[in-house]
Amino acid sequence: MKFVYADNNATTMVAPEVVETMLPYFTEYYGNPSSMHTFGGQVAKKIDSARQQVAELIGADPGEVIFTSCGTESDNAAILGILKANPHKRHIVTSRVEHSAVYNLCKYLAQNGYHVTELGVDTHGMLNLNELADAIKEDTAVVSIMYANNETGVIFPIEEIGNIVKQKGSLLHTDAVQAVGKIPINLSKSTIDLLTLSGHKLHAPKGVGALFIRKGITFAPFIIGGHQEKNRRGGTENVPSIIGLGKACELAKKHLVEEQNGVKLLRDKLENEILEKAPDARLNGHKIHRLPNTTNLSFEFVEGEAILLLLNEKGICASSGSACTSGSLEPSHVLRAMGVPFTAVHGSVRLSLSRYSTMEDVDFIIEHLPPIIRRLREISPYGRDTKVKGQVVTTQVSARP
Ligand code: PLP
Repeated sequence: MKFVYADNNATTMVAPEVVETMLPYFTEYYGNPSSMHTFGGQVAKKIDSARQQVAELIGADPGEVIFTSCGTESDNAAILGILKANPHKRHIVTSRVEHSAVYNLCKYLAQNGYHVTELGVDTHGMLNLNELADAIKEDTAVVSIMYANNETGVIFPIEEIGNIVKQKGSLLHTDAVQAVGKIPINLSKSTIDLLTLSGHKLHAPKGVGALFIRKGITFAPFIIGGHQEKNRRGGTENVPSIIGLGKACELAKKHLVEEQNGVKLLRDKLENEILEKAPDARLNGHKIHRLPNTTNLSFEFVEGEAILLLLNEKGICASSGSACTSGSLEPSHVLRAMGVPFTAVHGSVRLSLSRYSTMEDVDFIIEHLPPIIRRLREISPYGRDTKVKGQVVTTQVSARP
């Protein structure tokens, strides 16, 4: 069966060049980078090159980058590392639309003696920066606000946020898992103190991530163990994946213009034509301040899971904001925070492209998605086509069981 993959915010294909670069590190250069012998030492050198490649993509100094096991670990390490290093500060500011790696950690901290302020967003998914300024207090240890949203692609004005955080004397951590490799990031001229990235969102393997910690920041390690990563993260390094992440960052830097322009052209065509052709379709998220690869669309009175199943029958891979397929029966906390109507949250679909997406992929989705929506609207228990010859005839909405 042919698959059209439009779920790149969930994970990406590992680039063939990345696989090729990784392979010798399983069978040939398998030494432990902490070993004293030359065999291990040559691996340590390659890890340093990978660190350099990651640092170059984000405009950091290599000494400011540590390798982790994933984006979730980096998020946990950043927030817990700052809290541990500043035990007298018990307040955290975050947003209501963070990925669960930050969102659920902050919920956990709130139940365990910390005070958490969650900032809301408007209907476009944007923050109110005055509310942010008001929220930061003297005992705010860290402000954790994502760079770009995984569900809607909405990009927050992170440097403006950083300026406010700096004026108020706190630290800014940003979860940039969805932003790195898709839009330019230059930490050498930035107000960001800590930044999270994850390999599998930028054509490196799953199970590897990195955390940028600005020089001079006091940080306590989250994983306590050996002296790896200059005492900032214990555990023998996942060498092949780290080498793969380095290569993926090098490639991402090379393809950044293509990601921004080529992928955006495909995304815009996909979005515009579906909005035009499918009944009662709406865009979720800011039209402009958005990642170039992501579109999140709602189709009222239709279940997202049903759309995904029918797309799946055609070989189209997407994800939904209210899906059991996304591991939860809860409707998306991101769309709810944006005030997206109940009937639209449940009928939401996220399509996310990559530099491997093609015009044929986009045309295929445009051909199949609108008829799927029409078909589901006809059998929907929540409502029927609201328009017959331009006249509103009936709208039935019942609560979701
Ligand atoms: N943060 C964001 C914004 C994400 O989209 C994800 C993954 O979907 C993560 C964090 C978690 O990254 P990982 O899967 O590497 O743990």
